[in-house]
Amino acid sequence: MQTTAVRPEIQQLQAYTPGLSIAEIQRKYGLTQVVKMASNENPLGTSNLVREAIRRHAAYVFRYPQGGNPRLVGALADMHGVEPGRIVVGNGSDEIIDLLIRLLVAPGKHNIVCFEPCFSIYPIQAAINGVEIRRCPINAVPDDFSFDFDALLKRVTDDTRLVFITTPDNPSGYCPRAGAVKSLARSLADISPRCLLAVDEAYIDFADDEQEHSLLARRDLPENVLFLRTFSKSYGLAGLRLGYGVVPQPLAECYWRARLPFSVNILAEEAGLAALADTAFREATLSTVREGRRGIAEGLRDIRCKVWPSSANFLLFKLPENSISAQTCFERLLEKGIIIRQLKSYALPEHLRVSVGNPSENAAFLAAMKDILQQTALRAR
Ligand SMILES: *Cc1c(COP(=O)(O)O)cnc(C)c1O
Repeated sequence: MQTTAVRPEIQQLQAYTPGLSIAEIQRKYGLTQVVKMASNENPLGTSNLVREAIRRHAAYVFRYPQGGNPRLVGALADMHGVEPGRIVVGNGSDEIIDLLIRLLVAPGKHNIVCFEPCFSIYPIQAAINGVEIRRCPINAVPDDFSFDFDALLKRVTDDTRLVFITTPDNPSGYCPRAGAVKSLARSLADISPRCLLAVDEAYIDFADDEQEHSLLARRDLPENVLFLRTFSKSYGLAGLRLGYGVVPQPLAECYWRARLPFSVNILAEEAGLAALADTAFREATLSTVREGRRGIAEGLRDIRCKVWPSSANFLLFKLPENSISAQTCFERLLEKGIIIRQLKSYALPEHLRVSVGNPSENAAFLAAMKDILQQTALRAR
């Protein structure tokens, strides 16, 4: 078969670039120990209750999961104090994002609006689905990565069916207040009554005060808003693929009709239930991240890096003026066995993003950074 037979939008597609894996770096640099602070994973690893649940259910993987994941849906509905009919679950929130686009946005007819840069899955899934995406540059002038919702709304047309925002944002960590999101929802309803606002709250629980930033946490659910959450970050299940949404009920009904029947597998469902039950692990995760975030920000500022305030489990930073490039810094860290994230795919080639690790990983990262920048200063003399 010739490639030319493939739909043009797929041929032109820029695939999602994941962070480098530990195995890749070990092989390439001949290292035994590698610290990965690239993909915003849980700094404490996997909860013990989750491990036990997976062991307990290992013998049942020959069975199909129960259709509609009712126990997990029930547990999530209880936690958020909403009707179970509003909960959808998927193979990571990535699956939910893809399905929302397919459910709501007709190719060649409707469009999606989001910021630029943004989480790359939105534009990638839009492209795969042949849907126009209208991007609004993030407030670059104050250089604080804050959201200009008025500018975003200017991109909205009669044919916009979905507006995505990420709160806290990836890769900046910026997080608007719940009140600002609410007024965005109101204005959007005035402009385009058939458009939904998708609020991706993948990192919201790392904020110092979740209530201050999340309408969902306040149980304030405007009719035209849907919320996305994930088990990949604070619950530590990135490798099992489990995400969920709290969405308007009619949309949830259609979601279940369209979703592939067993995309959330038996182990993911059991692990999800165990993760929800393990409140101690989650509390420990949140305090580890909040403390680590403060420590890394302080440490980076001490060596004259610019660090943006973050409500998430990662920090966006830039190296001091007249030092090395982000690319060089990234490579020197790799040689020392530390993987962080370059942001070329976000069109931010001079910025870097580091995920908050556990205390010893954070210390190793800061020591390596100090070393790298000191060497540069010596060479420059
Ligand atoms: C990590 C992340 C997610 C979670 O994706 P999963 O598919 O649930 O692993 C969603 N949105 C953003 C912005 C993220 O960074």
